[in-house]
Amino acid sequence: MTSSLFTTLTAPNGRSFDQPLGLFINNEWRAAKSGDGITVVSPINEEEIVKVHAAGAQDVDDAVKAAREAFKGPWSKIGPTERGELLRKLADLAEEQTETLATIDTWNNGKRLSSAKGDVGELTSVLRFYAGFADKLYGQVISTTESKFAYTSREPIGVCGQIIPWNYPLGMAAWKMAPALAAGNTIVLKPAEQTPLSILVFATLIDRSGFPPGVINIVNGFGRTAGASLAGHVGVDKVAFTGSTNTGREIMKLAATNLKEITLETGGKSPLIVFEDADLDNASKWAHYGIMANQGQICTATSRILVHETIYTKFVDLFIGRVKQTSKVGNPFEAGTFQGPQVSKAQYERVLSYIEKGKQEGATLRFGGKPHQGVDGKGFFVEPTVFTDVKDNMKIYREEVFGPLVAISSFTTEEEAIERANDTFYGLGAAIFTENITRAHQFAKKIEAGSESPLSHRRVNIDYGFSVVWINSSNDSDFRIPFGGVKQSGIGRELGEAGITAYTTVKAVHVNLGTRL
Ligand code: NAD
Repeated sequence: MTSSLFTTLTAPNGRSFDQPLGLFINNEWRAAKSGDGITVVSPINEEEIVKVHAAGAQDVDDAVKAAREAFKGPWSKIGPTERGELLRKLADLAEEQTETLATIDTWNNGKRLSSAKGDVGELTSVLRFYAGFADKLYGQVISTTESKFAYTSREPIGVCGQIIPWNYPLGMAAWKMAPALAAGNTIVLKPAEQTPLSILVFATLIDRSGFPPGVINIVNGFGRTAGASLAGHVGVDKVAFTGSTNTGREIMKLAATNLKEITLETGGKSPLIVFEDADLDNASKWAHYGIMANQGQICTATSRILVHETIYTKFVDLFIGRVKQTSKVGNPFEAGTFQGPQVSKAQYERVLSYIEKGKQEGATLRFGGKPHQGVDGKGFFVEPTVFTDVKDNMKIYREEVFGPLVAISSFTTEEEAIERANDTFYGLGAAIFTENITRAHQFAKKIEAGSESPLSHRRVNIDYGFSVVWINSSNDSDFRIPFGGVKQSGIGRELGEAGITAYTTVKAVHVNLGTRL
């Protein structure tokens, strides 16, 4: 890795911008002491975009020290209202850069340009939402005895290590950074090695917004080096992670070194259930969005669809019609494209391997099932793929694919639908389609409460369903509403009020108003 810290890049849509390549520590751009680099590749044409620096343990240590100094020093002297103003300023500057940030994510991640712009909108909305929360974190006064006055206050936790994935590079950064900062913490954030570029450009706005040095530090790097160093660092008080369940498990072990606070948002195999009384046109549209949006790379993707047997054929026809009509695969910079490439060769191969498993296990391949020609035969493109008549023991029904692959199956009774929906060690999202409001809420409750199922041999002692339930929609999450998983889909919540209290710790103060000892 050369020591160059900036370069000018021109994206395929002709947009030029200054791209930082280093690590952002203490409001400075630094070369990685590790000497390592990450080759960043565009999934659209498999070509190298640029190399960025990759942090090692020493670099992570420097970032954690900077965050600690800022936490003890300048950041602790900035009041909550002023923290909110800084976050608002950061949101304003990011909004001005919408075209550039979106261009980078389309080039680097492969998502279509309109979605990438939507991600910048998510980033600014989340920053502004938590800006408003910064001076609205209240404690309590607690009645005990006449001689005691007791109150609590919500305090920041300290230095937060945040490790994010590649599917929403800016959205995931915002979900973690904004509440942590609003609550008065300092941050060391590690982006995913596949998609570091937009966050590095975003980092150029931190200093300009007026954040003191060390409050926000960004360390690009690989998971097993930079990520593991951060998750296990004794100077980190809380670790927050989004990514795979297996990595979440490793991070939990690392975080145990000094009993850090932890938030994990991991995988899912979310069911979508269509009852016989559903509005089928609406159900097929949401079901399509719920699995095919973002190339299927969504932790809450509704990748298992259970349809009542009386409407199964009709629903499948409508769903496939929707895929044909809307899922144009191709260059994500082109207007009209719905689906770009998978983020990386590894993800592309993973999706193709699941397509093979589906075929081998005897599911009916109704649509897609092959690599897509993409742009001039290059790029990590996969056809949107629909399997029907999928059995519950098949891998495409049980395991997270993280791609545009859906497994559709029919059910006979409501009880069966609940049991089969709950029969997974994941517990993130679930969607229900019915026009019967009583059934909808009862089902949401049951799916939340879970139920003992003879099929549930894979579950380990935990039996409480899903934590995000959509009625007559799918994957229409909102930053004002808490989000997170149960079972092996995660620990803790992000977004909403729960998202900021997760970055606080409660201090209790006892005041003796009575006798002196
Ligand atoms: P991953 O979990 O390995 O990576 C996510 C983040 O964790 C990245 O920043 C990575 O560098 C970091 N990381 C990896 N190993 C680490 C370690 N030992 N210690 C600390 N940090 C570490 O995910 P992936 O390999 O990029 O994707 C694999 C699968 O994960 C996907 O196919 C999908 O099933 C799942 N995934 C889920 C989400 C989600 O939003 N829940 C996001 C991305 C990937």
